[in-house]
Amino acid sequence: MSKGDLDPKDWETFRADAHAMLDNSIDKMEQAGEGRVWSPVPDSLRNKFQSSLPLEGSKTDLTINEIMPFGVGNTHPRFFGWVHGAGTPSGIISDIAAAAMNVNAGGRDHIAPVVELQVLKWCLEMMGMPLDGSGLIVSGTSMATIIALKVARDQSILDARLMGVKQGQLVGYTSEQSHSCIKQAFDVLGLGTAALRVVSCNDNFEMDLQNLSELIAKDRIAGFTPLCVVGTAGAVNMGAIDDLHGIAKIAETENLWFHVDGAFGAAGLLGKLAHDRLSGISQADSLAFDFHKWFQVNYEAGCVLFRDETAHRGAFSARAEYLRGSERGLAGGDFWAVDYGPELSRGFRALKVWAHLAEHGILAIGRSIDRNISLAQYLADRVAREGQLQSMAPTPLNINCFRFVSNNFDLDILNEEIVVLLQERGIAVPSTTRLNGKLAIRVNITNHRTQESDLDLLVDAILEIGAELTST
Ligand SMILES: *Cc1c(COP(=O)(O)O)cnc(C)c1O
Repeated sequence: MSKGDLDPKDWETFRADAHAMLDNSIDKMEQAGEGRVWSPVPDSLRNKFQSSLPLEGSKTDLTINEIMPFGVGNTHPRFFGWVHGAGTPSGIISDIAAAAMNVNAGGRDHIAPVVELQVLKWCLEMMGMPLDGSGLIVSGTSMATIIALKVARDQSILDARLMGVKQGQLVGYTSEQSHSCIKQAFDVLGLGTAALRVVSCNDNFEMDLQNLSELIAKDRIAGFTPLCVVGTAGAVNMGAIDDLHGIAKIAETENLWFHVDGAFGAAGLLGKLAHDRLSGISQADSLAFDFHKWFQVNYEAGCVLFRDETAHRGAFSARAEYLRGSERGLAGGDFWAVDYGPELSRGFRALKVWAHLAEHGILAIGRSIDRNISLAQYLADRVAREGQLQSMAPTPLNINCFRFVSNNFDLDILNEEIVVLLQERGIAVPSTTRLNGKLAIRVNITNHRTQESDLDLLVDAILEIGAELTST
């Protein structure tokens, strides 16, 4: 029986407490569809986290149980705000095992890199990228994007030995519907946010390729060096998918790095309904996507994939002497994650991703994604039938944007209030967004628990609250 300083004094009590917590956790998942979607944190609970630094220890189980109802709400079938996955009960199990192993998956010869490589191989295959490509499991798409664009930047700086490019002259392109993490990556990498050119969109909110070509031409004339183009496969606002094949063609002609932000959308490749529109992902030099969104892996885990393993490793593999590998022993092993990204210490995220893919299989995950796309269409049809609701954008994927209309009211303020009341009353959690300058209620369905009845309940509640707010 282990007797470390911080090990339990009484293993039997610890075991009983741990089993009780496991039961509570399973209860939470089993009852995910019951009760309020979201509740504000009560002051009594908030105050518990204003206490002084603990000098002596105390039991924490009660407090942990108390906090469990006050999450974001994304395990609930009527959580439609932002792009969050709903998670699965099995995810609890692999996280327990990973915590017990407590490995550092940054490098060395043990099972974690073996599992991670398996997951990465599967990902390359799922996304239609070359199987001799490479990748890394990371916290999410924001980190994946930084890693991808660092590789792109370094490639271009290598070219610079021939071409004489200086940083500051490097520029990139992405559409006005793209995610803010791309701009942030330009900042973090020292390229500067001004170096990210914003390409306009067509009526379907997809990148306007004519405008892309014009901006590239203009930059070349002005002496800038076009570095990369970032396409979006599933934009956060309303789910637009850029013409990825079209972008790939321009990237090839112009010798640009082609990165795809497929944070949630790339998972659509596993289903049938959006598969063809996403197939251009296979032409990307790099791809960022999340497991914690449409794949439904419990938070958090994302992935970056590269067509060219050498370029990927070249951007990160400068191991310090004390981290030098050896042929044999624990310091051996071929895949050291530290050679592929900026983190040295990292947990065993690969385990929960592996377990999720292995337990469900990609066909079932694909079916749940297709079902979400069908549900978004179901909602679009219902919105079209309701005289008081107005569609605000096409529904190409799993996101539906619309608003409640009423004469003589500021519709931006009215719809904002409807959304806040839906959240505060615990009925449902949609979010809002602005499309063509107008506020829209945004219903995002990346939730394997959502049913038609949840969407009907949502629409009924919007009509009811809308009537309540406009009756004077
Ligand atoms: C969520 C999202 C991101 C950011 O991903 P994180 O996992 O939250 O870091 C980037 N792009 C798109 C399109 C997203 O939906």
